[in-house]
Amino acid sequence: METYELPELFQLAASYDRSFEPFAYPKTEQQQGKADLTAESWAAALGEIPADFAKSVVVEHYRRNSVSVSTSVIHREWVEYRNQQIQKAESAEIRSKPRPSASESLRGWERATAALLEAKGQDPEKAIRDIKARRQVLQVKCPVCRALPGRGCVSSTGNRVQPLSNNRSHPSRFEAAGVEMPPPNSSERDDDEHDSEDSVPNRG
Ligand SMILES: [Zn+2]
Repeated sequence: METYELPELFQLAASYDRSFEPFAYPKTEQQQGKADLTAESWAAALGEIPADFAKSVVVEHYRRNSVSVSTSVIHREWVEYRNQQIQKAESAEIRSKPRPSASESLRGWERATAALLEAKGQDPEKAIRDIKARRQVLQVKCPVCRALPGRGCVSSTGNRVQPLSNNRSHPSRFEAAGVEMPPPNSSERDDDEHDSEDSVPNRG
């Protein structure tokens, strides 16, 4: 509140409380000086609080109390009001942001992958199609190496079992999942997959 706004607030208070009359309607020069000083000190204490808000607190205060209103009463109400406003704004913000669904988070994952691959100079759309196809393939058991759903294909060489390079899946697993096998990238050309399919012992 500004100093010039205070006389009106004092007049409102005086309508409920005679102790504000000297500030609202100063009759002597001495009372005027005291009223001016009080207006300044109230303006300093009430700071950012809008005049209309202070007036509403004064009305509410005298609805319930017989003691005089003070700057601390108005300030306390203001702090409480502001906290409520902040809480309302925060809960409105939370409500307006729905939790991401599975498909939305996949789109988020796609966006991140696309940005990464684009930065590497690859065609992001193709790469995402390939990655999605591979993920779909992982949902079925591999008929070749018998990798369980969710597990990557492995190649067995002698006693060594290791994941296929580039985390690929056996071509037969694509068939089992009903997914068309993406054409291999020239950059990741690797015949490991085809060799290992033939070299798995005790097939079937
Ligand atoms: Zn496999």
